[in-house]
Amino acid sequence: MLQVLKHNQAKQYIESQGLKFLVLSSVAEYEAALLKEVDAVILGDMEQRDTAQLLKEVRRSRDKQLYLKPIFSVMKNDPSNSEGFDGFTDLISNKGIAEKARKILAKIDEVNSKVVPHDFERQTLFKQMAFMYTRDQLLGPITDRYSKIGYAFPFIESLLTDGASLTLINILKLGLDQGLMTTKLVDKIHTCNECQGNYLNFREVCPKCSSVDIVAKDLVHHFKCAHVDVIDKFQNGDELTCPKCDSKLRHIGIDYDKPSTMYSCNDCHHQFQDSDMQAFCIDCGKEEDTANLLESEINTYALSERGEHLVINGWENEQDNQHIEHLSLELFRIMLGLEIQRSKASSRSVFVKFDIHQSVVSPLGKEGREQFQREILGIVKSYVAATDLLSTKNAQEYFILLNDNTLEEAQEKCQIIEHNLTKLIADNLTTKEDLVLGSLQQVTSDLKVEHLT
Ligand SMILES: [Zn+2]
Ligand SMILES: [Zn+2]
Ligand SMILES: [Zn+2]
Repeated sequence: MLQVLKHNQAKQYIESQGLKFLVLSSVAEYEAALLKEVDAVILGDMEQRDTAQLLKEVRRSRDKQLYLKPIFSVMKNDPSNSEGFDGFTDLISNKGIAEKARKILAKIDEVNSKVVPHDFERQTLFKQMAFMYTRDQLLGPITDRYSKIGYAFPFIESLLTDGASLTLINILKLGLDQGLMTTKLVDKIHTCNECQGNYLNFREVCPKCSSVDIVAKDLVHHFKCAHVDVIDKFQNGDELTCPKCDSKLRHIGIDYDKPSTMYSCNDCHHQFQDSDMQAFCIDCGKEEDTANLLESEINTYALSERGEHLVINGWENEQDNQHIEHLSLELFRIMLGLEIQRSKASSRSVFVKFDIHQSVVSPLGKEGREQFQREILGIVKSYVAATDLLSTKNAQEYFILLNDNTLEEAQEKCQIIEHNLTKLIADNLTTKEDLVLGSLQQVTSDLKVEHLT
C-alpha cells in the first residue's frame, strides 16, 4: 500500500481548463489505471523507442477510454508527427491542447465499442476508424525511412508488431472493400515477395548469367559503307576509324551516328541490347526479377458515411454469426447429459473445452472479464455450426458440443479456434506462453457431465 502511494506521488499532473493531464516521462511510469483517471496524457522528453513502446501499451488496450485517450507530447523536432500525437505543448501554456482534448473526449463518448469485432483484423480496423472519427482527421501515410514499406501510418502502426506493414495495408484494404473508407492514391510501392520489405536495390543484369558486371557501349553506324559495330572496334587512339573501309570518322551526324547501345557481359561475354532489371532485397538478400515484386497501393484514407455510422453504432449488424446464441451452463449440462445417454459405444458428437490461462483473465476487472467472455464467445461462435451447442462457465472456461463431427474434424476445428484465440490474446498482451488450451473427447456413454463441466 505504502509503495503504491509513493509511486503515485512521483507522478506529475497538470490541470488546464478544468481537464487533468498526466505527464509521463518514462515507460515504467505507465499504468492503465492511472490513465483512466485523467482526461489526457502528455509524453515528456523521451527516446523515440520509448515513445513507441508507450503508445503501444496505451493503444493496444481493449478499452476505448484508454486506446482513444488524447495524447500530447512536449515540443519535439518531429514535424511529421508519425506517432499520431494530438498536439504538442511547451508545458507552460496548455490552453490549446486542453481545447483539443475536450473536443476529442466529447467524440469518444459517441463511439460505440460495446460490440467489438472479434477477429484481430476487424478489431484493429475498428480502432483505427474510431481514432479517425474522434480526431476528425484523415489517415495519411508519412514517409519513414525505418518503416519496412517506406511509409508509416500513425495510430494503426502501434497496434501491430514491428514490420507487419503489409498486414497494415491489408487491414486498411478490408475497410475499403467493406465501404467503410474512401481513399486517394498517393503512391505505389514494390516490395520483396519473400520478406515484404521495400529496401530494394534495382540493377541491370546480364539476361544470360544475371551478372551485374555488364557495360553499355555505343553502337557506331558508318554512313558511307553502312558498317555497324560497337565503338571499341572503331577506336584508333583518339580517333575513330572504320574497321571495314578504313575511312576516318570525323563528324557525328555527317559521317556516322550512334543508333543504339549494346551491352556486353564481363562474366559470360554475352552481348545483348536489352538488359534485365533485377531487384536485390537488402533485408533478406533475395534477387528477384522486378516483374515478380509485389505491388501495393499507398493511400490516404477517409471515413465514409458508412464507416462513421459503424463507429457510432457499433459493429453489431455486421456480425455474421450473431444468431448463434450460447446456452446457459445449466441448459448446456442438460443437453450434454442427454447426448451422453443417447450415445452407445461411439457417437458423432464431440465435447470440446477451452481453458484460458489465468494470467490473461485475472488482471481484468469484473467488467473487463465480462467483456472478455463475450469476445471469446463471439470468436468461438464464428467457428461452430448453428446446430452445435456452446456455453461458458466463467471468463476462463468455454464448452462446445459439436454435433455430427468426427474426432478428426473436431480436432481441426479445435486447432483453428485455439490458434485464433491465442492470436487475439497474444496480440493484446506481451507474454506468449500457452494461453489457450483446447481439449476434446468423443461423447460416449461412460462420460459424466459433472467431470466435464
Ligand atoms: Zn526480402
Ligand atoms: Zn566504313
Ligand atoms: Zn553474362
